[in-house]
Amino acid sequence: MLTRFAPSLTGYLHLGHVLHMLYVWGIAKLNSAKVLCRIEDHDLARARPEYEAAILENLQWLGFVPDLGLRAGTEAAPDSDFRQSDCSAHYETVLQTLQDRNLVYGCDCSRKQILERAGGAASASSDASPELHYPGTCAGKNLPLQGNTVRFRTHDGETIFHDLKLGEQRQTPRNQCGDFSLRDRQGQWTYQFACVCDDIRQGVGLVIRGEDILFSTARQIQLFNTLEASVPQYCHHPLLHDAAGKKLSKRQRSDSISRMREAGATPGQIIGQALFQAGLAPDSSPLSPASAIEKYIIQHPRSW
Ligand code: GLU
Repeated sequence: MLTRFAPSLTGYLHLGHVLHMLYVWGIAKLNSAKVLCRIEDHDLARARPEYEAAILENLQWLGFVPDLGLRAGTEAAPDSDFRQSDCSAHYETVLQTLQDRNLVYGCDCSRKQILERAGGAASASSDASPELHYPGTCAGKNLPLQGNTVRFRTHDGETIFHDLKLGEQRQTPRNQCGDFSLRDRQGQWTYQFACVCDDIRQGVGLVIRGEDILFSTARQIQLFNTLEASVPQYCHHPLLHDAAGKKLSKRQRSDSISRMREAGATPGQIIGQALFQAGLAPDSSPLSPASAIEKYIIQHPRSW
């Protein structure tokens, strides 16, 4: 069994990521799974190499060691199966198989046009999704894929899956987002597509991630099914919020692990702080990754 730690390359690690690491390495341990580390830098406009170096270095410094994939010191490798910006040729091949089966199409709608045409469709959806609903305007136009957004012909109907933490989940991608995008008109791969291609190729059988991505799961399952790949098990965990109740953001260096390190914090103090802030620990006493996982994830699987 293989799971993964798959940060996007949009900023520095913060306490929310430390909590996520505890869940990933903890739930992996509970399931005797190995952890691979891959860098999700499909968004080339936001990805910066210094983020990758800082993420891998802080992961190591905190004491979380991936069994496979990228690690501190390997960031200089020119090509990696575990860095999305190096995997374009693979995504291209998978896209070709979908194109051969007429399961994708080109779309030249701008975001503004979609907003205008979709009208109330997004808000009428019963599934909570932060995304725009695409009404299928270009589905029958036969536009080229090159130079246009590439959309997947979403299946009808509800997708039901079991989340290890949240139980039975029901989502209807057709109502949530409609035909979702696999590649944008600039040729950048989307998270949904790159993530599924990677999970399949890398043999990931267990996906542990924050609840903020729960809404993506059914559409990813549609891709797994279409590509005749086995669907992983899912576990979506609670997130860490700031004092104002907002999800922590990776873009603010001020809250980053690097900044806490510079101010003299030890890995144990940072781990203790993450557990306390998540409401899992009664105080912020320092803890090593192994004891934090044992005490708050393994021994109390119901508390999270
Ligand atoms: N790259 C995503 C993030 O950093 C995680 C995606 C996933 O686990 O599926 O939020």
